[in-house]
Amino acid sequence: MRQVDHFIVGGAGGGSGRTHKVWNPSTGEVQAEVALGDTALLDKAVETAKKVQPEWAATNPQKRARVMFRFKELLEKNMDDLAHLLSSEHGKVIDDAKGDVQRGLEVIEFACGIPQALKGEYTQGAGPGIDVYSMRQPLGIGAGITPFNFPAMIPMWMFGMATAVGNAFILKPSERDPGVPVRLAELFLEAGAPEGLLQVVHGDKEMVDAILDHPDIPAISFVGSSDIAQYIYSRGTANAKRVQAFGGAKNHGIVMPDADLDQVVNDLSGAAFGSAGERCMALPVVVPVGEDTADKLREKLIPAINGLRVGVSTDPDAHYGPVVTPEHKASIERWIDTAEEEGAEVVIDGRGFSLQGHEDGFFVGPTLLDRVTTQMTSYQEEIFGPVLQMVRAKDFEEAVRLPSDHQYGNGVAIFTRNGHAAREFAHRVNVGMVGINVPIPVPVSYHSFGGWKRSGFGDIDQYGMEGLRFWTKSKKITQRWPDGGGDGSNAFVIPTMG
Ligand code: NAD
Repeated sequence: MRQVDHFIVGGAGGGSGRTHKVWNPSTGEVQAEVALGDTALLDKAVETAKKVQPEWAATNPQKRARVMFRFKELLEKNMDDLAHLLSSEHGKVIDDAKGDVQRGLEVIEFACGIPQALKGEYTQGAGPGIDVYSMRQPLGIGAGITPFNFPAMIPMWMFGMATAVGNAFILKPSERDPGVPVRLAELFLEAGAPEGLLQVVHGDKEMVDAILDHPDIPAISFVGSSDIAQYIYSRGTANAKRVQAFGGAKNHGIVMPDADLDQVVNDLSGAAFGSAGERCMALPVVVPVGEDTADKLREKLIPAINGLRVGVSTDPDAHYGPVVTPEHKASIERWIDTAEEEGAEVVIDGRGFSLQGHEDGFFVGPTLLDRVTTQMTSYQEEIFGPVLQMVRAKDFEEAVRLPSDHQYGNGVAIFTRNGHAAREFAHRVNVGMVGINVPIPVPVSYHSFGGWKRSGFGDIDQYGMEGLRFWTKSKKITQRWPDGGGDGSNAFVIPTMG
């Protein structure tokens, strides 16, 4: 059986001795085993990172950018292989797997411009003979802990920015699909990054806790579910680390009565069911405004959802593939049971779905639930599967209130032809990322990504200029080069520039 090892300098020896199964979700077979690390293994990786980082930080930014350029080229060259490996471990279809790599690659493209982005600020003559300037310096060693659902994009959000600004990086990817993160580290090395600059340690809670407590790791970026995100944030900041921790989501799509319903149905089909709903920016809740809008939308949604093709991840005609593990399939089906018990109407039922010839795969059929209410736990919690819930709002005010009052605040979308309504909504809604007639509003790499409320703990977003700030600290220098002798000022008074 294929073994997935840690990617650290000096070999992967050591570790906890424990392993974790890596499934092929399309066939239901175990295709690999990944070694789980422990504190001693992390110590080894940190010792290497400490040796490599100072020289990398001292390398001029243009040379660091050249590594990013070569890495981008290697990603493009290896796109097909990466997408196939990713798809086989995760279950998302090949085109979607390519999108996963592509959205990470775009952060690497941003990192190629690091010499420009890292330029500091300068004030000449802030006082008599005094200049003030500021610079951003790397933190040392950054760590990233990532979820299963974007095994290429999210690691690259983190290590792309962290290393471009001069840090070494230790990645702890999801143990459920660890193959691609290791391939990325191999390609980064091939691109010319010094050996040990980017290391990958696999593991579960034991390894995560070791990272959280390690005195030589000053900054941690986390993406995953909210309870774990809050735990990471609390324990990491209690250890005086800089932490950003992004959590779960329950994104709403508001459909105004004037929306183009055919376009909405098309957008919702992709945003609710693409990647089997395993996206933090999926749209699992649709909120039609007014009963008439709800009825018309439902009528159009039913045939569209029934027409979705569920298939193995390599099926070029499949709209989506299996979910990641048997446990996750069972959890999604339990949520549909709960929704039904709570009084939701199961309009299309994806439970018990079996794909002919692949009966052991972890498939869940597309599901539509109507008459969902805010009291239902199945509305309040994240399901993370191919399940679309319809919550009928009586008016615009209720449509603004629903996502604003929800515990999660990652993304939201409004579908309308009315610019004023869209503007009002975007300004008032209590959610971090807003789409106007855009179902999955993931900001491009030169803006930044981050949700609010229980979708994001900490103050600084991922990638773009926010990413640059997260992975650096700012130094402010006030300098004077006197022409000799004192300037007659009183050294015991706080200096002013007047
Ligand atoms: P998860 O929380 O189970 O795992 C995330 C990481 O935490 C993994 O590396 C895992 O090994 C580690 N981990 C798991 N249990 C732990 C524990 N008890 N203690 C310490 N570490 C632990 O998340 P997942 O199932 O891999 O990913 C799906 C979740 O991630 C969903 O909730 C989804 O919404 C969220 N997500 C959020 C964003 C975002 O940007 N907000 C993006 C992608 C995914």
